[in-house]
Parts: sequence; C-alpha cells; structure tokens
Amino acid sequence: MGEEMGKSDCAGELAGKVALVTGASRGIGRGIAGKLASLGATVLINYNGSPQKARELAEEIAAAGGCAECVGCDVSDFTACADMVEQIIGKYGRVDILVNNAGVTRDNLLMRMSEEDYDRVLDINLKGAFNTMRHLSRYFLKQRSGKIVNISSVSGVLGNAGQANYSASKAGLIGLTKSVARELASRGVCVNAVAPGFIDTEMTQALSEKAREAGVATVPMGRMGTVEDIAETVAFLAGDRSNYITGQVICVDGGMAI
Ligand code: NAP
Repeated sequence: MGEEMGKSDCAGELAGKVALVTGASRGIGRGIAGKLASLGATVLINYNGSPQKARELAEEIAAAGGCAECVGCDVSDFTACADMVEQIIGKYGRVDILVNNAGVTRDNLLMRMSEEDYDRVLDINLKGAFNTMRHLSRYFLKQRSGKIVNISSVSGVLGNAGQANYSASKAGLIGLTKSVARELASRGVCVNAVAPGFIDTEMTQALSEKAREAGVATVPMGRMGTVEDIAETVAFLAGDRSNYITGQVICVDGGMAI
C-alpha cells in the first residue's frame, strides 16, 4: 500500500466511511473514487498497471480536502486480493463500501476469439469481483453493514456482437450480484449492480470513429454517457439513501436497455 494522503474534512454523507474502488486509476473508477471522496469517504484507490495515475488521483483528492491511499493489486489474482484486503483491514479496520469497477475488453467475433482473450476478460471482470467480495465478506458480515456496487454493463443485459467474452463476464456479474445480495441481505449488507451504457473513457476512445458513431446511434438519448453520470448513481447506492435497495441492476445508459 502507498501512504495515506490528506485528511477528510468533509462532513458529507459518506463521512467516516472507508471505500475500496477497484480499477480506480483511470476512467469510470477514477470518477467514482473522486465522487466518494468528495462526499467524505476515505478512498482506497486500487490500480494494476497505472501506479502513476493512481498517485496523481490520490494527490488531487488530498488537494481538494479529501483523503485517499493507493493500493496496487491485480484483482484477477485470488491470493493478491486476500493480501490487499488484509493490508486494508490491518490499517483501517473496516471497509464500508466496495466498488468492483476494474474491467477490460478483448473484443472479437466468436469464431476468431482466442481462449486467452476469453479467459483474461472473465478473470478480471467476473472473478475479480468474486475475489474482493469473497475476502471482504467476513468483515461485512461481522460489521452488519456495508454497500457493494458491481459495475456491470449494458452488454451484460442485452448481449453485444463481438463481445461474447465481455458480455458473458458482465452477465455473470449480475448473477453474482443477485446471489451475494441474497446471502448478505439479512446482515444489512446491500449488493447492487450498475450497468453503464456507452461511456466516454479510454475504453471507448480506443474504438474507431465509425464504431463510436454506431454506438451513439443505439442510445435513445443521443449522446455518450459521462463518468459523472455513473459516479452519481454509484454514490447513491453507496450511501444511506439506498438502504432498502439490494440485488438490483440499475442501467445508466441513456435508454439503451429500454
Ligand atoms: P478504462 O478507462 O479502460 O479503465 C479500466 C480500469 O480498470 C483502469 O483503472 C485499470 O487500471 C483497471 N484494471 C484493468 N485490469 C485490472 C486488473 N487486473 N486489476 C485491477 N485493475 C484493473 O475502462 P472504463 O471505461 O473506465 O471502465 C470501467 C468499468 O466500467 C469496467 O468494468 C467496464 O467494463 C465498465 N463499463 C464501461 C463502459 C464504457 O462505455 N466505458 C460501459 C459499460 C461498462 P490500471 O490501468 O491501473 O491497470
């Protein structure tokens, strides 16, 4: 783990909460981490390949009056996730909010998709969420409170040609969310999924202009979503205003999944 930066002086609705956001170095995860910090949570910024970006975010959060610390870990690694959780619990004693956001794409048509690309996407997007929830579950159960938000995708709800691996991982994440929600509900732990649509991040900037135009054409609201659109919904699910909501999938997609 890195060093804790800043001290949250914010009396926001998440004051005193400890939040772990996976894949928070870039994109949607970065926006979620910033939002939770702005509401007063101490944020643990998980990263894998982008330590510098994670550090910059922690510095930004501290400069804005929040509190954050970086924690490197490949979420697809079961043992590394156990170590990450033990380090966090050893230092902070608890995790109140877990956001499983880390995700990758390796798009191809089914007949051209390699076994390696199938496995890697499933390992990060689906097993990664299992790993963090599995290792944190005993602490959530003991606390008798907690919020877990899993970042799925509209591709997991509708399917998407060229994304068999990704859609399977995101649909699997919905099943995982609902099952864990049933297991933890009686202990006051809420587990929900957010399914973003077509959001402007490096993941979608990697697409060709033609593919981006085709993507926007599938959005009834006629525009790509922003990182802030997703972060707002995650903040709602992470706070007390959503205490009676569990096992749900909220599509934040400009109407794509209508
Ligand atoms: P992105 O810009 O490519 O960022 C991906 C993030 O995941 C990075 O912070 C990356 O961290 C992290 N990550 C990747 N592999 C990891 C691993 N093995 N362990 C830990 N962290 C890892 O993607 P994004 O668009 O923000 O997507 C974020 C989430 O939203 C993903 O789950 C994605 O599937 C989902 N989503 C995105 C869209 C969209 O349109 N953008 C739509 C629906 C759903 P490092 O760089 O540090 O490795």
